Amino acid sequence: MTSRKKFIAGNWKMNKTSADGVTLVRDIVAAIGKQADVDVVVCPPFTGLESAAAALEGSNVKLGAQNMHFEASGAFTGEVSAPMLRAIFATHVILGHSERRTYFGETDEIVNKKVLAALKNQLRPIFCVGETLAERESGATLKVIQAQIERGLEGVSKEQAAGVVVAYEPVWAIGTGKVASTAQAQEVHAFIRGLLSNLFTDAVAQKVRILYGGSMKPANAPELLAQKDIDGGLIGGAALEARSFVELVNAAIAIK
Ligand code: PEP
Repeated sequence: MTSRKKFIAGNWKMNKTSADGVTLVRDIVAAIGKQADVDVVVCPPFTGLESAAAALEGSNVKLGAQNMHFEASGAFTGEVSAPMLRAIFATHVILGHSERRTYFGETDEIVNKKVLAALKNQLRPIFCVGETLAERESGATLKVIQAQIERGLEGVSKEQAAGVVVAYEPVWAIGTGKVASTAQAQEVHAFIRGLLSNLFTDAVAQKVRILYGGSMKPANAPELLAQKDIDGGLIGGAALEARSFVELVNAAIAIK
């Protein structure tokens, strides 16, 4: 039995105007806004954060951003900072998503700076790691994950580490419909927990929620969520409709 609360986060990516986002948030809140058995976070694009925050008010659903800069302010055109996100009631931020790493050149070092800045500002990072198909096929999966975890969490204290949420997202499974088998996912999740135990302590590692991400859907979620080290999901496509997102939250509640 694990004492870790399950955690379901929706990554809307570059989808939904703020008005469409409010509609989605209202439907989610109406269905599962009062439950407290599972932690639920929605992550709209920057333009939808403030209106989503207003629509979430009074519910147990939390607000997350999809990215941020590591500096608090300054000449960084187009960027937003952790204090700005805190000021509009965000509590979480996705960092190191593979799309940020691939399309926007985010290195482990940049991701690490962002993780440290988020923690300093009381924002909980949803820190993403994952291997590409080529890396998996060449047998490098665990080595790649180890490097991403060690570099991404460098300088994080034991106290801070317990509040980090890690998301294991095999790049080949994101938005492709190809889901990792439960055995493949559990193997990497257990490996990550072992790394966290070495880097911090076993007590910390037992507290950290490790999410699976990559084509998670209501049909495959129950089996994934039942694995010992899979504490929830980071959901892309299935988070864009209330019905599938709510079904995923309900699947986590059923297992909790
Ligand atoms: C994601 O981008 O974090 C993700 C898991 O996407 P999808 O669920 O669409 O594969």
